[in-house]
Amino acid sequence: MKGTNLDIAIIGGGASGMMSALSAVKQSEKLNIAVFERLDRVGKKILATGNGRCNFSNINTSVSHYHGQVPDFADYPLKEFTVDDTVNFFNTLGVFPREERDGRLYPFSLQASAVLDCLRNELSRRNITVYTSRKIIDIKHKGSVFRLSDQDKNSYTAKSVIIAGGGCASPSLGSDGSAFDLLKSLGHRMEKTYPTLVQLRTDTEGIKGLKGIKTEAKVSLIHGDRIITAKQGELLFTDYGISGPPVFDISVELTGKKNASVEIDFMPEYDEKAVFEILKHRTGVLSHLTAENYFVGLLNKRVGNLIARRAGIQKLSMSVSEFTEVLLWKLAANIKHYSLNITGTQGYDNAQVTAGGISVAEFDNKTMESKVISGIFACGEVLDIYGDCGGYNLQWAWSSGYVAGRECALKCLKYRK
Ligand SMILES: Cc1cc2nc3c(=O)[nH]c(=O)nc-3n(C[C@H](O)[C@H](O)[C@H](O)COP(=O)(O)OP(=O)(O)OC[C@H]3O[C@@H](n4cnc5c(N)ncnc54)[C@H](O)[C@@H]3O)c2cc1C
Repeated sequence: MKGTNLDIAIIGGGASGMMSALSAVKQSEKLNIAVFERLDRVGKKILATGNGRCNFSNINTSVSHYHGQVPDFADYPLKEFTVDDTVNFFNTLGVFPREERDGRLYPFSLQASAVLDCLRNELSRRNITVYTSRKIIDIKHKGSVFRLSDQDKNSYTAKSVIIAGGGCASPSLGSDGSAFDLLKSLGHRMEKTYPTLVQLRTDTEGIKGLKGIKTEAKVSLIHGDRIITAKQGELLFTDYGISGPPVFDISVELTGKKNASVEIDFMPEYDEKAVFEILKHRTGVLSHLTAENYFVGLLNKRVGNLIARRAGIQKLSMSVSEFTEVLLWKLAANIKHYSLNITGTQGYDNAQVTAGGISVAEFDNKTMESKVISGIFACGEVLDIYGDCGGYNLQWAWSSGYVAGRECALKCLKYRK
């Protein structure tokens, strides 16, 4: 295996790496392109996306859904390879799209394996070499070529290299942070990373007994006196804190913020006064009940009991007929503003995405080429760009991978002449 000479070496067989390979080969079938993947198969993470259904894009894609030190960096690639281009691309490979809530796009079969299979088939049809179980551990710039080494001491030379190794979220699915090290060793700067699109750890007193409960709610992220962001959806309580789509969404804005908290609104459809009136009415018709059963039919019983305790009800055996208006206002306030301190996140092992990464200031977003070393390109999550929950991260992988592959191929072809 020693001394394999390549035009383009792509490090990482994830979403952005496979897209970059297919985009490069589109420029010329004569290019000698190889994808290096450290796991025993490519695209493992794709299989886990969208709960196994692969939310591969979102019709509402625009740069406003992206974050990082310079989110505008994403604008050109997203416009160069748009959502329509993505849908057409997958359609020509056989993946018919299905649109669900908030513009989320999935394969019609709702199987993530459909997206991966069509990419793998296309790599094979286009004769792109795929090396699996090959972790690239070193890249050296030697004259006009790059020398790559893998963990088994095999070496390869390539005229250009596309680094598509992802971040460090969910390392069991492939991205272990080694792509950061490769780019740093080539002289690139890195922005601090955080796990994002991740479950939140909270103080456990306020969620005691709620493990496993799912409920519709609005969850606000509070920092200082400010509401940073608020999202509504199905909230899941766990033994360590909270999870579910609204939590993943707000976790994107948590990066770098200390002493933040969340406020849960269990009745977002009503303002506090309306909640008070609903409670007052219930008190009249349910005066024969105890506090323990007062919320049944309005809120999850266990959630109701915690709210009752927070509002000052010491004993759940208290009769509803004893509820005062002052108590009802306290109950209404806790239903609308149930506060929990955030003590951390569930970490990279459970995060869907890495916030931060290699600084985009040292890349040209028209080509995805490094401004530090000519011939080095990067795409996907390894760069300091991350998107909201809802298909935006895969869209970034497709768009940035497309531009990197195309421009890298054009550069190789230019020097071939
Ligand atoms: C559980 C889960 C669910 C998700 N759901 C969605 C969703 O529904 N929609 C959405 O838009 N986004 C989703 N995401 C995020 C999305 O999957 C990623 O943002 C996207 O896959 C990033 O693509 P990438 O190619 O940059 O990196 P990755 O997909 O991480 O691929 C990088 C690849 O490079 C390989 N690699 C790394 N280093 C090396 C090396 N040194 N040598 C060789 N190979 C290397 C890795 O093994 C990996 O296969 C989800 C993520 C997770 C973890």
